[in-house]
Amino acid sequence: MVSRMREQGIEDERVLAAMRAVPRHLFVDEGLASHAYEDAALPIGHEQTISQPWVVARMISVLAHGRELGKVMEVGAGCGYQAAVLAHVAREVHAIERIHGLYELARSNLQKLHLPGRLRVVFGDGMAGLPGTAPFDGIVIAAAGLKIPLALLEQLAIGGRLIAPEGGTTQRLVLIERTGTSAWNRQELDAVRFVPLRPGTQY
Ligand code: SAH
Repeated sequence: MVSRMREQGIEDERVLAAMRAVPRHLFVDEGLASHAYEDAALPIGHEQTISQPWVVARMISVLAHGRELGKVMEVGAGCGYQAAVLAHVAREVHAIERIHGLYELARSNLQKLHLPGRLRVVFGDGMAGLPGTAPFDGIVIAAAGLKIPLALLEQLAIGGRLIAPEGGTTQRLVLIERTGTSAWNRQELDAVRFVPLRPGTQY
């Protein structure tokens, strides 16, 4: 999986090492484990999916941008896979999930791993972010909204980066860099396909 990713343009060695270190088959149902190292999204229940490995590597590479990552927030923990990869490249990861069953799944999946970074999973609506923990050096949104929530842009540290899919039936990865107190730069990257970003929580 990792050599294929290198061919697909992922160059950050720390990200490649993190992808190699996290056993993706532990994050999917036993019946799907034989597909865990294919470059595809797979179902994790509650109509949600585990993200495609290339997309995970791409988002984290763009977020890190060759620098050390300090405090990072992930919106949409799902089964916890991307959070585990992030915890190999960031000092501190705060991952939020709005569906209670998935929040519990992420916690139990992540408890089994030994991760170098600090990792916290939070049950809640990630569209509001974590104002008490902000500012973040990096924010990754793992579900697509029509617009990136303003609350999240405001929780970025100056110089921090946010990466998120944006759109409805057609989506693109968008990179936002906060350049000042009220200044953000925006860049559109790859075409992608994510599950929708939804408000509120669900039991
Ligand atoms: N990061 C996961 C991807 C999970 S799919 C991985 O590593 O594979 C995206 C997840 O975002 C879903 O679990 C969905 O429930 C969650 N989500 C959608 N809107 C959300 C919101 N407002 N707050 C938190 N999680 C949200």
